[in-house]
Amino acid sequence: MNRNPDPNRNPDLNINNINRDGHDIPKSITDIKSMYPEELAGFVKGRGLPAFRARQLFQWIHVSRAAGYEEMSNLPAGLRRELAEKYPLVTARQVDCRVSGVDGTRKYLFAMPDGCLVESVFMRYHFGNSVCISSQVGCRMGCGFCASTLHGLVRSLTASEMLEQIYAIARETGERISHVVVMGMGEPFDNYDNLIRFLRLLTCPEGMNLSQRSVTVSTCGIVPGIRRFTGEGLHVTLALSLHAATDEQRRKIMPVANRWSIAELMEACGEYSRVTGRQVTFEYSLIKGVNDSRADALGLVKLAKPLRAHINLIPVNPVRERGFSHPDSEGVRAFKMELEKHGVNVSIRRALGKDIDGACGQLRNRYAEQEARDCLI
Ligand code: SAH
Repeated sequence: MNRNPDPNRNPDLNINNINRDGHDIPKSITDIKSMYPEELAGFVKGRGLPAFRARQLFQWIHVSRAAGYEEMSNLPAGLRRELAEKYPLVTARQVDCRVSGVDGTRKYLFAMPDGCLVESVFMRYHFGNSVCISSQVGCRMGCGFCASTLHGLVRSLTASEMLEQIYAIARETGERISHVVVMGMGEPFDNYDNLIRFLRLLTCPEGMNLSQRSVTVSTCGIVPGIRRFTGEGLHVTLALSLHAATDEQRRKIMPVANRWSIAELMEACGEYSRVTGRQVTFEYSLIKGVNDSRADALGLVKLAKPLRAHINLIPVNPVRERGFSHPDSEGVRAFKMELEKHGVNVSIRRALGKDIDGACGQLRNRYAEQEARDCLI
């Protein structure tokens, strides 16, 4: 047993289990929405159906984003009934949708088939519409400023459950979605195999055919995950949640920093960038009095320059249970200018949906609290 006795470690974060996928994912159904075209072809053949039925099904599910078999008008009614009975399609049921009065951001709460709740966000940018999806229900990474991890990990999501967040939003808004970011609840590299399946289906030419360059995967910094990801032949943008320029400081806010050092992270990110030709993004949540000094900015410059990384500054979104606050806009601007002075490419993330529990995990937590109160009444 390779147990790490470090007292700073989050008890939920058993690194030995990281990359062992499928934390209690319901396996009772044949999930045809998670099947690659060739797997669907095998499934159809195995049922004695003609090969073109596989192409029709794939098209209905991933291009037309049908909510159910009843919509599949070029399939015989008998077959539709049989499929619906035996192989129900994984769908995300909309439980809530909050629309920001400020910027039109839409924050969704979806229930998965087993009732688990996840959050997804629809955002408008000048370059198109973007959807932020969750990769897990809850999270076990324990970051000190994040609401998603407050109650630990419930389970990982399947590829179809990740796709469904996008498809359900496309159905509801009727709008074209050109960008996807895996930055909602959960740690994508703690659900590695399902993440890869999701990314391949999302960017598959026979399906939604999203450009790989329009997809971003954000990780808290699981080094073996980054290394494995480098070899997948996917050209998606990798975002690293750095949030501190020294290991000592990072360990105070991110338990994962007890396992992998910043030096190891920089090496893995550098390799990702070299192999894929993609610029890596460092996410840096500015927390007042914790990581917003001039020395922090200079430390960040030293890390970003060799990698030519882009830095995305996020004034920390205050989470009631956490007690962190962000520097005022002057402080944020000063930090940005210090980075720019040294030639680092930096942007400040637009704080979208401030009026609708914008931070990851907040809306779901509100629901859990409400349910707990209802139980007491
Ligand atoms: N687990 C992944 C993706 C989910 S979080 C990761 O850690 O990257 C997406 C981003 O939002 C991460 O950079 C995360 O650190 C940041 N984040 C989480 N809670 C936040 C908060 N309250 N304010 C600002 N950023 C936050």
